[in-house]
Amino acid sequence: MTFKFYLFDLDGTLLNLGNIRAYADQIFTKTLNMLQAPKIPNREEKLKFWLAGKDYIKILNKWGILEPQNFWNVYDKVDFELRKVLIDQKKVGLFNDVKDILKKIYETSNKLAIITNTAGYVVEYVLKKFNISKFFQEIFSMGPGIDEKFAKPSPKGVLTILDKFKYNPKELKAILIGDSKLDIIAAKKANIYACLIRRDICTRNKDYNQWKIQPDFIIERLDELLHL
Ligand SMILES: [Mg+2]
Repeated sequence: MTFKFYLFDLDGTLLNLGNIRAYADQIFTKTLNMLQAPKIPNREEKLKFWLAGKDYIKILNKWGILEPQNFWNVYDKVDFELRKVLIDQKKVGLFNDVKDILKKIYETSNKLAIITNTAGYVVEYVLKKFNISKFFQEIFSMGPGIDEKFAKPSPKGVLTILDKFKYNPKELKAILIGDSKLDIIAAKKANIYACLIRRDICTRNKDYNQWKIQPDFIIERLDELLHL
Protein backbone atom coordinates (compact mmCIF):
# COMPACT_ATOMS: atom_id res chain seq x y z
CA MET A 1 0.00 0.00 0.00
CA THR A 2 1.27 3.46 -0.81
CA PHE A 3 0.59 6.33 1.49
CA LYS A 4 0.84 10.02 0.71
CA PHE A 5 0.07 11.50 4.11
CA TYR A 6 2.06 10.42 7.16
CA LEU A 7 0.79 11.75 10.47
CA PHE A 8 3.08 11.12 13.40
CA ASP A 9 2.50 11.19 17.10
CA LEU A 10 5.51 12.73 18.86
CA ASP A 11 6.08 11.39 22.39
CA GLY A 12 6.97 7.71 22.45
CA THR A 13 6.82 7.52 18.65
CA LEU A 14 9.59 9.89 17.55
CA LEU A 15 10.81 11.16 20.90
CA ASN A 16 12.13 8.65 23.39
CA LEU A 17 11.00 9.73 26.85
CA GLY A 18 12.01 6.42 28.39
CA ASN A 19 9.13 4.91 30.30
CA ILE A 20 6.47 7.22 28.96
CA ARG A 21 3.80 6.26 31.42
CA ALA A 22 6.16 6.96 34.32
CA TYR A 23 7.15 10.25 32.70
CA ALA A 24 3.53 11.42 32.29
CA ASP A 25 2.76 10.25 35.80
CA GLN A 26 5.60 12.29 37.24
CA ILE A 27 4.34 15.45 35.51
CA PHE A 28 0.78 14.70 36.50
CA THR A 29 1.53 14.20 40.18
CA LYS A 30 3.72 17.29 40.35
CA THR A 31 0.96 19.34 38.70
CA LEU A 32 -1.65 18.13 41.19
CA ASN A 33 0.72 18.93 44.04
CA MET A 34 1.37 22.41 42.71
CA LEU A 35 -2.37 23.00 42.44
CA GLN A 36 -2.77 21.69 45.97
CA ALA A 37 -5.28 19.04 44.92
CA PRO A 38 -6.88 17.55 48.03
CA LYS A 39 -6.16 13.98 46.90
CA ILE A 40 -3.77 12.36 44.45
CA PRO A 41 -5.77 9.83 42.39
CA ASN A 42 -4.67 6.23 42.07
CA ARG A 43 -3.36 4.60 38.88
CA GLU A 44 -6.76 3.38 37.69
CA GLU A 45 -8.35 6.80 38.18
CA LYS A 46 -5.51 8.42 36.27
CA LEU A 47 -5.87 5.98 33.38
CA LYS A 48 -9.59 6.78 33.19
CA PHE A 49 -8.66 10.45 33.02
CA TRP A 50 -6.39 9.98 29.99
CA LEU A 51 -9.09 8.09 28.14
CA ALA A 52 -12.00 10.33 29.19
CA GLY A 53 -12.07 12.58 26.12
CA LYS A 54 -14.25 15.61 26.80
CA ASP A 55 -15.43 14.15 30.12
CA TYR A 56 -12.02 14.84 31.64
CA ILE A 57 -13.35 18.06 33.23
CA LYS A 58 -15.80 16.07 35.38
CA ILE A 59 -12.92 13.92 36.61
CA LEU A 60 -10.75 16.95 37.42
CA ASN A 61 -13.67 18.48 39.31
CA LYS A 62 -14.04 15.29 41.31
CA TRP A 63 -10.40 15.59 42.31
CA GLY A 64 -11.00 19.17 43.49
CA ILE A 65 -9.50 20.88 40.43
CA LEU A 66 -12.09 23.41 39.32
CA GLU A 67 -10.18 25.26 36.63
CA PRO A 68 -9.24 22.77 33.92
CA GLN A 69 -7.41 25.30 31.77
CA ASN A 70 -5.19 26.25 34.66
CA PHE A 71 -4.49 22.57 35.22
CA TRP A 72 -3.16 22.21 31.67
CA ASN A 73 -1.16 25.43 31.83
CA VAL A 74 0.65 24.17 34.91
CA TYR A 75 0.98 20.67 33.45
CA ASP A 76 2.57 22.01 30.26
CA LYS A 77 5.02 24.20 32.17
CA VAL A 78 6.11 21.33 34.40
CA ASP A 79 6.49 19.13 31.31
CA PHE A 80 8.53 21.78 29.47
CA GLU A 81 10.94 22.38 32.34
CA LEU A 82 11.57 18.69 32.92
CA ARG A 83 11.94 17.94 29.22
CA LYS A 84 14.54 20.68 28.73
CA VAL A 85 16.62 19.30 31.58
CA LEU A 86 16.37 15.70 30.37
CA ILE A 87 17.22 16.69 26.79
CA ASP A 88 20.27 18.62 27.97
CA GLN A 89 21.33 15.63 30.03
CA LYS A 90 20.82 13.46 26.91
CA LYS A 91 18.38 11.31 28.82
CA VAL A 92 15.66 12.22 26.33
CA GLY A 93 16.22 12.23 22.59
CA LEU A 94 14.93 10.98 19.26
CA PHE A 95 14.81 7.25 18.69
CA ASN A 96 17.79 6.20 16.54
CA ASP A 97 15.83 5.56 13.35
CA VAL A 98 13.82 8.80 13.31
CA LYS A 99 15.95 11.20 11.24
CA ASP A 100 16.81 8.68 8.57
CA ILE A 101 13.26 7.47 8.04
CA LEU A 102 11.64 10.91 8.17
CA LYS A 103 14.11 12.04 5.53
CA LYS A 104 13.30 9.06 3.30
CA ILE A 105 9.56 9.61 3.60
CA TYR A 106 9.93 13.35 3.06
CA GLU A 107 12.16 13.00 0.01
CA THR A 108 9.63 10.89 -1.83
CA SER A 109 7.34 13.94 -1.88
CA ASN A 110 4.99 12.76 0.81
CA LYS A 111 3.34 15.08 3.26
CA LEU A 112 4.20 14.74 6.92
CA ALA A 113 2.56 16.17 10.01
CA ILE A 114 2.71 15.89 13.77
CA ILE A 115 -0.43 15.29 15.79
CA THR A 116 0.27 15.44 19.47
CA ASN A 117 -1.39 16.07 22.80
CA THR A 118 1.71 17.95 23.96
CA ALA A 119 1.71 21.77 24.15
CA GLY A 120 2.67 23.59 20.95
CA TYR A 121 5.62 25.48 22.45
CA VAL A 122 7.06 22.24 23.83
CA VAL A 123 6.70 20.57 20.43
CA GLU A 124 8.35 23.50 18.67
CA TYR A 125 11.28 23.35 21.09
CA VAL A 126 11.75 19.62 20.55
CA LEU A 127 11.57 19.78 16.74
CA LYS A 128 14.04 22.66 16.60
CA LYS A 129 16.40 21.15 19.12
CA PHE A 130 16.70 17.96 17.07
CA ASN A 131 16.58 19.75 13.75
CA ILE A 132 13.58 17.92 12.31
CA SER A 133 11.11 20.84 11.90
CA LYS A 134 11.75 20.91 8.16
CA PHE A 135 10.15 17.51 7.60
CA PHE A 136 6.71 18.54 8.86
CA GLN A 137 4.37 20.70 6.83
CA GLU A 138 1.75 20.82 9.57
CA ILE A 139 1.52 20.43 13.33
CA PHE A 140 -1.54 19.98 15.49
CA SER A 141 -0.74 20.37 19.17
CA MET A 142 -2.41 21.32 22.42
CA GLY A 143 -1.60 24.16 24.81
CA PRO A 144 -2.78 27.74 25.40
CA GLY A 145 -5.84 28.65 23.34
CA ILE A 146 -6.62 25.09 22.22
CA ASP A 147 -9.56 23.34 23.82
CA GLU A 148 -8.29 20.18 25.52
CA LYS A 149 -11.35 18.27 24.29
CA PHE A 150 -9.65 18.23 20.87
CA ALA A 151 -6.77 16.14 22.23
CA LYS A 152 -6.50 12.56 20.98
CA PRO A 153 -8.54 10.27 21.19
CA SER A 154 -10.61 13.01 19.52
CA PRO A 155 -10.10 12.84 15.74
CA LYS A 156 -10.12 16.65 15.56
CA GLY A 157 -6.35 16.98 15.04
CA VAL A 158 -6.31 14.34 12.31
CA LEU A 159 -9.28 15.87 10.53
CA THR A 160 -7.85 19.40 10.78
CA ILE A 161 -4.55 18.33 9.25
CA LEU A 162 -6.17 16.25 6.51
CA ASP A 163 -8.30 19.23 5.61
CA LYS A 164 -5.19 21.40 5.31
CA PHE A 165 -3.62 18.72 3.10
CA LYS A 166 -6.80 18.69 0.98
CA TYR A 167 -7.02 14.97 1.57
CA ASN A 168 -9.33 12.97 -0.64
CA PRO A 169 -9.58 9.33 0.49
CA LYS A 170 -10.57 8.20 -3.00
CA GLU A 171 -7.27 9.39 -4.42
CA LEU A 172 -4.54 9.10 -1.79
CA LYS A 173 -4.11 7.28 1.48
CA ALA A 174 -3.28 8.60 4.92
CA ILE A 175 -1.80 6.85 7.95
CA LEU A 176 -1.27 7.84 11.55
CA ILE A 177 1.64 6.30 13.41
CA GLY A 178 1.51 6.32 17.19
CA ASP A 179 2.53 4.40 20.27
CA SER A 180 -0.73 4.48 22.21
CA LYS A 181 -4.36 3.52 22.19
CA LEU A 182 -5.29 7.20 21.89
CA ASP A 183 -3.53 7.42 18.52
CA ILE A 184 -5.29 4.36 17.17
CA ILE A 185 -8.72 5.60 18.25
CA ALA A 186 -8.12 9.07 16.78
CA ALA A 187 -7.01 7.61 13.43
CA LYS A 188 -9.89 5.17 13.12
CA LYS A 189 -12.46 7.80 14.11
CA ALA A 190 -11.06 9.95 11.30
CA ASN A 191 -11.31 6.96 8.93
CA ILE A 192 -7.65 6.68 8.07
CA TYR A 193 -5.12 3.87 8.56
CA ALA A 194 -3.75 3.40 12.04
CA CYS A 195 -0.28 2.06 12.74
CA LEU A 196 0.76 1.11 16.26
CA ILE A 197 4.49 1.29 16.89
CA ARG A 198 5.66 -1.06 19.61
CA ARG A 199 9.33 -0.38 20.05
CA ASP A 200 9.33 -2.09 23.37
CA ILE A 201 7.16 -5.11 22.77
CA CYS A 202 7.99 -6.59 26.15
CA THR A 203 6.48 -3.91 28.31
CA ARG A 204 4.14 -1.53 26.50
CA ASN A 205 0.67 -2.15 25.06
CA LYS A 206 0.85 -5.85 25.77
CA ASP A 207 -2.94 -5.95 25.80
CA TYR A 208 -3.38 -4.25 22.44
CA ASN A 209 -5.15 -7.21 20.88
CA GLN A 210 -7.96 -6.69 23.37
CA TRP A 211 -8.54 -3.06 22.40
CA LYS A 212 -11.99 -2.40 20.99
CA ILE A 213 -10.50 -0.38 18.17
CA GLN A 214 -7.66 -2.19 16.44
CA PRO A 215 -4.70 -0.77 14.50
CA ASP A 216 -4.40 -1.72 10.82
CA PHE A 217 -0.65 -2.25 11.17
CA ILE A 218 1.75 -3.03 14.00
CA ILE A 219 5.43 -2.24 13.64
CA GLU A 220 8.47 -2.32 15.90
CA ARG A 221 10.71 0.04 13.95
CA LEU A 222 10.01 3.05 11.76
CA ASP A 223 11.71 1.58 8.68
CA GLU A 224 8.88 -0.93 8.47
CA LEU A 225 6.71 2.00 7.37
CA LEU A 226 8.53 2.03 4.06
CA HIS A 227 7.22 -1.45 3.28
CA LEU A 228 3.60 -1.22 4.38
MG1 LIG B 1 2.70 8.93 22.15
